[in-house]
Amino acid sequence: MKKVVKFGGSSLASAGQFEKVGKIIRAEKGRRYVVPSAPGKRFSSDTKVTDMLYGCYAKAEKGEDFSEDLAKIRARYQEIIDGLQLKLSLDEAFSVIEEDFKNQAGTQYAASRGEYLNGMVMAAYLGFAFVDSATVIRFHEDGSLDTETTNRLLADALEKQEYAVIPGFYGADATGKVRTFSRGGSDITGSLVARAVKADMYENWTDVSGCLVTDPRIVENPVPIDIITYRELRELSYMGASVLHEDAIFPVRSEGIPINIRNTNCPEDKGTMIVGDTCSKSEYIITGIAGKKGFASVTIEKDMMNTEIGFGRKVLQVFEENDISFEHMPSGIDTMTILVHETEFAEHEQKVLTGIQKAVHPDHISLEADLALIAVVGRGMKSARGTAGRIFSALAHARVNVKMIDQGSSELNIIIGVENSDFETAVRAIYNIFVLCKL
Ligand code: ADP
Ligand code: ASP
Ligand code: MG
Repeated sequence: MKKVVKFGGSSLASAGQFEKVGKIIRAEKGRRYVVPSAPGKRFSSDTKVTDMLYGCYAKAEKGEDFSEDLAKIRARYQEIIDGLQLKLSLDEAFSVIEEDFKNQAGTQYAASRGEYLNGMVMAAYLGFAFVDSATVIRFHEDGSLDTETTNRLLADALEKQEYAVIPGFYGADATGKVRTFSRGGSDITGSLVARAVKADMYENWTDVSGCLVTDPRIVENPVPIDIITYRELRELSYMGASVLHEDAIFPVRSEGIPINIRNTNCPEDKGTMIVGDTCSKSEYIITGIAGKKGFASVTIEKDMMNTEIGFGRKVLQVFEENDISFEHMPSGIDTMTILVHETEFAEHEQKVLTGIQKAVHPDHISLEADLALIAVVGRGMKSARGTAGRIFSALAHARVNVKMIDQGSSELNIIIGVENSDFETAVRAIYNIFVLCKL
């Protein structure tokens, strides 16, 4: 059994956490490739090392004195090294970083040092080889991942190592310039490593006992999901279930490698298995609920819209020309609504309105801001009657005004639009009806 194990920031925030991680890794010989994040928060008001690095580099970029900030970052690592009684010196590494910061090495380089340094500490602690991700994770010049080169480089490098630590979150382009993924991107590194070494399993260790039916910051102690498909999880993570980066699914999905989300603080819990497909039915009709705030809607009305060929295309072209991606597009006979991210839309608002006016001469256009979207996801919804009806009645009871509803063509999800201020109430109401009342 060959496993890739990724540990998130809170799992590596202190020497005590490192010890838990060490125990987990040593418990199974097959846990051969370790992908660490940067140290996260030790307590709720603490700052993640990645955020400290962003702050520190912002000063360096402005030519301000950043020595105190860098010293604080260094202290975070020293505390771990001392706590683990390691004979590792980061003197050399920190003087290179200081020099690179002075030479304006870039924000992405700066942020990547959190994982780089933690990888060095982890390798020393475990006695594993250290493989610098800048040499094996390859980005294109435009910042996107070069998947195939990455797969080849990783496979070649790791073939030579029985046990290795590969830091998460970053890589480099062909010129050697360090690049990072978006926040939370160590999950993607873990998935890439799992694909390259043809792992039997990708274990993703975090601070909750798996993917929970909904966000634990909204519902207290939501139940964990035992088993979920890649597609379901992708829908949930895209819509805000931040337990796994939304792009972490792709590399393992193509190889059919299951992901197991586990809790570093409760290693005996079996967590969530993420798989290609399963006959196992979820205990409830739905698998999960996730959502995000900050959307705006553009509703276009025009009599006989449905008979006007090319109407939708012309409208969407206006959004495209303004570089705005749309999230959902529910429509009626004489109306269509386009849901967009508020911040993306705000910049181009008036240009879009003028563009639509010119392109399709509508009878009326109305805008609405401060909307939240909630995705109710579940492979079981296809065969269950009345799911949407149950959602509506739960929301009506909770006095939430439903602004929009859109059932995905895969019947895997139902998207509900509500006001931002109703978001949490709506999520709780949906959770209660399906999970607590088991309707
Ligand atoms: P890590 O640092 O280990 O990568 P993250 O903070 O990125 O951990 O992800 C874990 C967190 O995701 C949890 O602590 C929880 O607050 C949040 N979260 C949001 N939605 C969910 C969900 N549906 N299931 C589990 N955790 C969720
Ligand atoms: N350390 C990075 C972040 O805070 C990447 C990660 O944790 O996955 O976003
Ligand atoms: Mg994460």
